[in-house]
Amino acid sequence: MICLSCKNGQMIESTNTYFAQSNHCYVIIENVPCLKCEQCGETYYRASVLEKIDEILDGVKKLTDRVAIMDFRNAA
Ligand SMILES: [Zn+2]
Repeated sequence: MICLSCKNGQMIESTNTYFAQSNHCYVIIENVPCLKCEQCGETYYRASVLEKIDEILDGVKKLTDRVAIMDFRNAA
């Protein structure tokens, strides 16, 4: 798959750390699978991964911590 951003680099399987801000806290999700361009570093998340991130963020709303650090692999 060719990168849609630079239209030059190859997209390779990788993992990324995803940052999100929920209503009351900051969420860091580690080891999120993504495709990363080896040339420009652009990252893409699959729809199924984005859905899972939404689920994780929904779960985080029940936490009282201001900062939550999750692991994508454990949150599945
Ligand atoms: Zn690129």
